[in-house]
Amino acid sequence: MTGRLVVVGGGQAGFALIARLRALGDRRAITLVAGEASLPYQRPPLSKKYLLRDMTLDRLIYRPESWYRDQAIELRLSTRATAIDRAARRLSLSSGETLDYETLVLATGATPRHLPESLGGALDGVYTLRDFADADRLADAMQPGKRALIIGGGYIGLEAAAVARGLGLEVTLIEMADRILQRVAAPATSDLVRALHLSRGVDLREGTGLRELVGEEGRLRAAHLSDGTELPIDLAIVGIGVTANDALAREAGLATANGIVVDRHARTADPAIFAIGDCAVLPYGEMMVRLESVQNAVDQGEAVAALLAGGTEPYHPKPWFWSDQYDTKLQIAGFGLGHDRTVTRPGPRPGSASVWYFREGTLIAVDAINDAKAYVVGKKMIESGLSPTPEQVDDQTLDLKALLG
Ligand code: FAD
Repeated sequence: MTGRLVVVGGGQAGFALIARLRALGDRRAITLVAGEASLPYQRPPLSKKYLLRDMTLDRLIYRPESWYRDQAIELRLSTRATAIDRAARRLSLSSGETLDYETLVLATGATPRHLPESLGGALDGVYTLRDFADADRLADAMQPGKRALIIGGGYIGLEAAAVARGLGLEVTLIEMADRILQRVAAPATSDLVRALHLSRGVDLREGTGLRELVGEEGRLRAAHLSDGTELPIDLAIVGIGVTANDALAREAGLATANGIVVDRHARTADPAIFAIGDCAVLPYGEMMVRLESVQNAVDQGEAVAALLAGGTEPYHPKPWFWSDQYDTKLQIAGFGLGHDRTVTRPGPRPGSASVWYFREGTLIAVDAINDAKAYVVGKKMIESGLSPTPEQVDDQTLDLKALLG
């Protein structure tokens, strides 16, 4: 019998790995060390339906406790791994116990960047959003008529803005960069998403940073912005990115670079230790990247399961992502980093469109806004190595589906 597998982190990646391993008939002993108190659950609804109070925690949980019992998976909830002794293959836990492993998988995710205390980050009324407890606190604060400042125009900030408007709050969103979504999308996509938020009454200010948040008796009262405005506010939502939870690996002498560096099999330099999901930095083509998505968490977790069950296939990411804002669904296929040209194609209905990313004439990504067909066609093409020319995408008379053959 193969020795014990210990998985650290009961999020999307850790769960995907153990579920697939059991589905493949692998019966080795498994212990899941999960820092949170809840059974493993999915995060995407936390900035969408869950925040809107349209969904409850029981719907986010992947499997009931009985499933773990039936699958002979030992669950250690509310327990953190604190140190790895690689020579002894032993993990220390916050409970004071140790766990011996034959294989260790780190699936520790990421932590939102907090606003420094010197800028008002510790005031009452300042929120970040990563787990369900964060979402519960924020949902309680999001009362109609309240004034919210959202700091950061990435997906979390934009989704929170949409929910806040939906709940009847006044919303100002500031983005320090020249445009929202600058890190992850082309200007054409930023334009479409900006137009959406402006049409819903968000006061959206790009190229605008935060000087500081100010409070009274520890309670948030106002924000001073870099454009000179002093804005009275009741709550602030900080969406300024995340830091990978890679300290365990780093302290054990493994390579990290805002993420745990792994190879195409998700293995670290220690053959007994893997890293998957948001905490891993992995090869993608010629680049080393960290992918913060359900797609990567699930696919990389399942790829490691297949490897542990006797497979040999490396993991090739096929990135896709989605974001829900108001009644708009943004779907993204591929990875647009390094593009040198985009083509915007109007969609079938008002408010729908797609942005096609090319590098040296080859399609590398598609952002589809309320345009499921463009998403499906683009994704299939990217995954099968087919590419339309930019001119074909630009030709409104051409049905792109025809190019799939
Ligand atoms: P996580 O799900 O973060 O799980 C890591 C777990 O490890 C956490 O529970 C953490 O507490 C635990 N942990 C950390 N350190 C330790 C330790 N030392 N010991 C024990 N446990 C530890 N992706 C999409 O594709 N589409 C979306 O629309 C989308 N929306 C999102 C909305 C929100 C609000 C958030 C926060 C994320 C969203 N994502 C979305 C991203 C997606 O949820 C993540 O990419 C995914 O959860 C990553 O899975 P993971 O298992 O790597 O990390």
